[in-house]
Amino acid sequence: MFSTAIDALPSTSPLTIKRFKTLGINTYYDLLNYIPFRYENYPVAPSIASLQSADTVTVVGTILKTETGYPRRGLTIQKVTVTDSTGELELSWFNQPYLLKLFKPGTELAAAGEVKRMGRKVFMTPNEYELPIPGRPFKHTGRIIPIYPEKLGLSSKLIRDKMQKILDLLDTEPIEWLPDEILTGNALLPAHEAYRAIHFPKTKTEILKARERLSFDELFTMQLSTALIRASWKKEEVTFPFTINGEVHKKIDAFIAHLPFPLTHAQQRCINEILSDLSLQSPMNRFLQGDVGSGKTVVAAIAAYAAYLNEQKTLVMVPTEILAEQHFANFTSFFEPYGISVGLQTGSKKQTDENSQIIVGTHALIQKGVSFENIGLVIIDEQHRFGVSQRAELKNKGISPHLLTMTATPIPRTVALTLYGELDMSVIDEMPKGRIPIKTFLVRPEKRENGYEWIKNEIKNNKTQVFIICPFVEESTEETMATVKAATKEFERLKKDVFSQFRVGLIHGKMKAKEKDEVMLDFKAKKYDILVATTVIEVGIDVPNATIMIIEGAERFGLAQLHQLRGRVGRGSAQSYCYLYTSEDSPANFHRLIFFTRTINGMELAEYDYKQRGAGDIFGTRQSGLADTKIADLTNFALISQTQQVVSQFLQNHTVDDFPLIKEHLAKYRIDQIARD
Ligand code: ADP
Ligand code: MG
Repeated sequence: MFSTAIDALPSTSPLTIKRFKTLGINTYYDLLNYIPFRYENYPVAPSIASLQSADTVTVVGTILKTETGYPRRGLTIQKVTVTDSTGELELSWFNQPYLLKLFKPGTELAAAGEVKRMGRKVFMTPNEYELPIPGRPFKHTGRIIPIYPEKLGLSSKLIRDKMQKILDLLDTEPIEWLPDEILTGNALLPAHEAYRAIHFPKTKTEILKARERLSFDELFTMQLSTALIRASWKKEEVTFPFTINGEVHKKIDAFIAHLPFPLTHAQQRCINEILSDLSLQSPMNRFLQGDVGSGKTVVAAIAAYAAYLNEQKTLVMVPTEILAEQHFANFTSFFEPYGISVGLQTGSKKQTDENSQIIVGTHALIQKGVSFENIGLVIIDEQHRFGVSQRAELKNKGISPHLLTMTATPIPRTVALTLYGELDMSVIDEMPKGRIPIKTFLVRPEKRENGYEWIKNEIKNNKTQVFIICPFVEESTEETMATVKAATKEFERLKKDVFSQFRVGLIHGKMKAKEKDEVMLDFKAKKYDILVATTVIEVGIDVPNATIMIIEGAERFGLAQLHQLRGRVGRGSAQSYCYLYTSEDSPANFHRLIFFTRTINGMELAEYDYKQRGAGDIFGTRQSGLADTKIADLTNFALISQTQQVVSQFLQNHTVDDFPLIKEHLAKYRIDQIARD
């Protein structure tokens, strides 16, 4: 019954079913897990006579009369007078003539909303109403009522109706999926009660208890899933086992000694962790985190060198052609002195042959165009979603290599523990010495012009280059056409009205990969002074001569994302600057952006946003789907570690195969995950 297809919902129109499916609600279970984002409380008022202005209540009365008013063109008012034995209340709705067909004099009506009293008359423009059914509890009035995210024209009222139906249908079904020992051991509400309470709570305490139970469910499922994946990976055998013996260590030490800089302690620690993984028979699944500029590439290069010393090839995959070129240049400079051949493979270039020991390329191309023979190590850079799907992909290719994924997105420990528990983490939490910190300023709107003047001088005097980042217009998972339009418009304005004597370029996500690369390469080659960009330039690109960045609409970005953007400057030896322009003057925004101007550590920034705005923000709006939980709060560390203990104890004493309902939940969770990827 839990997994009954939503199509089976009684007396529901095909359109509603279709809308549910568009929202990813395919089963009764999915609908039950469509969680209200807030509640309204409308207790029943004792009597109409007792009503006071500003009371937010439900009034139950008998309909006396109804009428329609026409105050002006295009506007109608439906007025309904109800009465109890103590007085009369005038209800009004706007432009809803069909209501008067429902409201016949003599019937009972319950209306919920805020009361207005003027002398002896009382009025209400109800937020909710219903025609009570004798013997049935109220659904939309007279209680704490849930408000749902109203998407695709699905009203809270409709969702409530459907929810009630499902809850009634499931009342006698065995939907509890957690074993008793876990329920009692953690003082959790039974599943039935939890779902009733989250959708139709009697008290606020009930909501809290229900949230706790459902959060537990979500975290338990996530963590059980990652624990099982981890265990199955540990059992796998790597296709080409490496030997990391004294001789290999000696060669690696010599390689490090010949680098143009000493490694930081953090880099050295991460290398040791990687080498220790590489010495095992089971494949490495390591995830290397490090702030922009912390020096991940050289760590990856040393892993590739270890593969080379074991006569194995390394694949390096990156998201864009530009990054591929950049990495190709980096790896070539590391490996040329050792006679190790590095290849490049992108949409427009193919410079590989059978001698290439290290092949750098874009993700998509490598999937198609490369032989996976003798690939002992795969490195994936600038990836936001890590591991699970990549390993599955590689398995499809018939290999089980060591896998190193890297990101500059700082992920706080609690999030990492929950979302990426299947991976081992290494963090480069130290910057190379001698970096000049970028100076960051929050610019008041009235100083905008001064900013432009200063930039003009900088370009003239120092031949520096400037990024101007335009914000999202709409919050969405992808760069939208509207955002591109806004950037284009700003580009025209800057080019014509502000920086007419300079060369201004434009780059955005709706351009073809080739066009984007061209613009970036031209910018790198100093053919533009100023580059107007959307967030497409967020990832890994290196233009050492660019020392100034303006970020428009800074309030729209997560701090970690602002940090990623800011990381595009400060890559050369000159002092760099980042200016935040914002049009929102709320204190919260001010504090947040000021915090950003004072903080250069990516992890601290991520944690700030994580605490204030939730995990979705760590990844920026673009990637927000990744860290969204349905109900669990990823900052609730107590609950996270509690579920973690429960999971590990459960796995010690049982196998999941003996728990079909838990298996069903896991399968469901993984399908949702894949849908998100
Ligand atoms: P990211 O972690 O953002 O990928 P990179 O690997 O591109 O950073 O490194 C950024 C720059 O820092 C490169 O120019 C690299 O050569 C340099 N670098 C890396 N490690 C060190 C170090 N230990 N000391 C000084 N410079 C370093
Ligand atoms: Mg990098």
